[in-house]
Amino acid sequence: MDLIIKNGTVVTASEMFRADVGVEQGKIAVIAERIGGEAGRVIDAAGKYVLPGGVDVHTHLELPVGDLVSADGYYSGTRAAVCGGVTTVFDYPTQTKGKGIVETVAERRAMAETVACCDYAFHCAITDLGAGDALLDEFQAAADYGITSFKCYMVYDIMVNDGVLLKILEKTRDTGCLTTIHAENRDVLEARIASFVSAGKTDPWHHYMSRPEFVEAEAVKRGIHWAVAVNAPLYIVHLACKEGLYAVAEARTQGHPIYAETCPQYLEFTSEVYKRELGRNFVCSPAIKGPESRDALWQGIRRGVIDAVATDHCPFAQAEKDRGIHDFRKIPNGCAGIENRYPYMLSAANTGRISFSKAVEVCAEKPAALFGCTSKGSITVGKDADIVLYDPAKDFEITLKNMHSNCDHTIWEGIRLKGYPTATFLRGEPVYENGTYKGAPGMGRYIKRGASGLN
Ligand SMILES: [Zn+2]
Repeated sequence: MDLIIKNGTVVTASEMFRADVGVEQGKIAVIAERIGGEAGRVIDAAGKYVLPGGVDVHTHLELPVGDLVSADGYYSGTRAAVCGGVTTVFDYPTQTKGKGIVETVAERRAMAETVACCDYAFHCAITDLGAGDALLDEFQAAADYGITSFKCYMVYDIMVNDGVLLKILEKTRDTGCLTTIHAENRDVLEARIASFVSAGKTDPWHHYMSRPEFVEAEAVKRGIHWAVAVNAPLYIVHLACKEGLYAVAEARTQGHPIYAETCPQYLEFTSEVYKRELGRNFVCSPAIKGPESRDALWQGIRRGVIDAVATDHCPFAQAEKDRGIHDFRKIPNGCAGIENRYPYMLSAANTGRISFSKAVEVCAEKPAALFGCTSKGSITVGKDADIVLYDPAKDFEITLKNMHSNCDHTIWEGIRLKGYPTATFLRGEPVYENGTYKGAPGMGRYIKRGASGLN
């Protein structure tokens, strides 16, 4: 045995039990009440929880936006990830006019290959199907390459219209893939932005006011409508509003394969943050909503309507956020979260808000299954030995200097957590221990994903 973790409490999405965990050649080889014999390394995890490495299915690394690039690249972003107990991240390369899917992803894969500190997978955002919808013919080849999920933006200049969305839904249905959507109503939010700007209302609060609850909810419902119409599965990224959540719940009650993700910023904060002096730092889209939505999202997690908590990690430097102090349109969208999500959700479990199994389910097991990462997401014999040791008695205050991102500020500054990861193992190798990054760039591997494990 290469590694034995003794005396810990193993947490899976369905149970918690005391066991020793043995690792051999990067895989979980044995889970038993007691494992004897020789091992390269033995760790006493008494008093600690033994969790699967987190799976963050929504990040943007080194994302170009206009003349800016998001603060974390494939090195610093994945380094921050493992220091927050995350061993798998998904990035969202964007296909542009005239470019193929595999070509788009291969470029990003090459950027990640020599620097990634954890394993990585890619979705692909589709923006243009080309003449005669030729790009649809590439979906099968993309799936064979390991790209089994595609994103459609319903806003921004990279959006697709409903006609294109419907074609993509049909194609993903036929190829065992999954369509994901960024749901907001572009026409309405653009009209509202124009009105606020002409009235001189350009502070960060009006970022929220231009895209409040109902702007997101309509698009969520429309997306579900098209998915149900063609009997295709659909996954809604960063769901942030109560009405949209209810629409997801309703569709599922009727037996439709509609899935939802939310992010920690929508669970912790409310739209009131946009009135803060540093309100611009919280600007992301969809906007953070009011307390009713926040409370409903927690309820959605507890009731199993929310399948995944991911981050939409996409921070920008303070000076770049400052561009929009007096004009919210100039604030680059996005916040940090890649290192904060798993500890935040585990702290919610530690304080009784959800169970530890639920935290593991939404942060690791279910997203891994939904997106075809069959070797990830669970402390189970045969899976990759992506393991986190968690000390439920350790108090932790998030502050920039104990984070491992390249960004120069964090919206999580000053947030206190009860319990914190003390070690992360990537395929059996230590990559984080007691506050310090221990891995090496390039240890992360590309994950060739299989078909979505939907049911
Ligand atoms: Zn995103």
